[in-house]
Amino acid sequence: MKTGFNALFIPGPTNMPFRVRQAMDVALEDMRAPDFGDFTKPIFEDTKKVFRSETGQVFIFPGSGTGGWESAIANTLSPGDKVLMSRFGQFSHLWVDMCQRFGLDVQCIEVEWGKGVPLDAYEAALKADTRHEIKAVFACQNETATGVTSDIAGVRRALDAARHPALLMVDGVSSVGSIDMRMEEWGVDVCVSGSQKGFMLPTGLAIICVSQKALAMQSSARLPRTFFSWEDMSKLNADGYFPYTPATTLLRGLRASLDMIFEEGLDNVIARHHHLAEGVRRGVLDGWKLDLCARGPEWYSDTVSAILVPEEADARQVIARAYERYNLSLGTGLAKVMGRVFRIGHLGWLNEVMVAQALAGAEMAMRDCGIMVEPGSGVGAATEYWRTATGNTMAQA
Ligand code: PLP
Repeated sequence: MKTGFNALFIPGPTNMPFRVRQAMDVALEDMRAPDFGDFTKPIFEDTKKVFRSETGQVFIFPGSGTGGWESAIANTLSPGDKVLMSRFGQFSHLWVDMCQRFGLDVQCIEVEWGKGVPLDAYEAALKADTRHEIKAVFACQNETATGVTSDIAGVRRALDAARHPALLMVDGVSSVGSIDMRMEEWGVDVCVSGSQKGFMLPTGLAIICVSQKALAMQSSARLPRTFFSWEDMSKLNADGYFPYTPATTLLRGLRASLDMIFEEGLDNVIARHHHLAEGVRRGVLDGWKLDLCARGPEWYSDTVSAILVPEEADARQVIARAYERYNLSLGTGLAKVMGRVFRIGHLGWLNEVMVAQALAGAEMAMRDCGIMVEPGSGVGAATEYWRTATGNTMAQA
């Protein structure tokens, strides 16, 4: 019999704040009520702030991040359009796969898993495309499978260096609301996210933000779309309504989540994620003396750490042991890194003591599975960092 809470340290769904849960404990409501727009219109405007977009438009579809990807593609592109992508983990892979299934002409740059978007190769590809056949450039800001964050401002620089007009499409599913996303400043045209990660909600919403340039592409884009049509959504959203039944309960939760993000301050939320992630890295690297899948500090993710187990070990055993014996959920290794890594998700509504649980549980599970890290070493390295780190926004209390 398991007692206590399941410690949820997968990289999404994340821990849901009580306040968000309570905000969703409401009767179902009339989504065509005359005052429904009074509730929804400010949500569109406030969600835009999390993407740091001023001139863009937010769309909120019932769905998940994958649906957000689909809407990004279907509303901007036509069959046979050329797109530039890179693959370095399961999620960047799935996005490539989706583009191929849509019949796009995908130029995919293969990158070692553990690294991210290859800026030099992007710039070279864009400069070589003198006829501007590439219609969109895709970048996964945070590859959740490997714990790798890419430099989106750098992708914009590559586009600008090549004076290339392609759209910049970003997967921000495991970064928006946790890792800096500056749509306006970086000239991001579509940024895709979902409700169950930085937004601290249950799964069920695809949340995307779209630039005016991307919106204008709808008139020429010939891929079919109905459920994910921006045009249909825009018409009704203008008055706060939706072309089909919206997930009203989740929207109530989103209102609470946005309020929490703004009360803490978006900059502070991002700084907190960095602070927590840095502690986890101290625990893994200095304490346990293990490696991260991310191949160097420039790739480290502040929302998820993928931890490599020693060659002779199987990370799946550690994950199973953590769950069965210690009621701790760790993220599994996906595809190529299955068995090689376990992941600690450290995003959303968290503080140091909560993250220490994940380190303590992983330590016990590893030792149970014969990976003889020093007892307390990960927790010790992390907690000493957290206790003494300067510039920690959590220490302001
Ligand atoms: N992109 C990234 C980076 C993800 O981490 C995920 C899910 O974990 C997805 C896309 C797919 O999102 P969803 O599972 O919400 O459809």
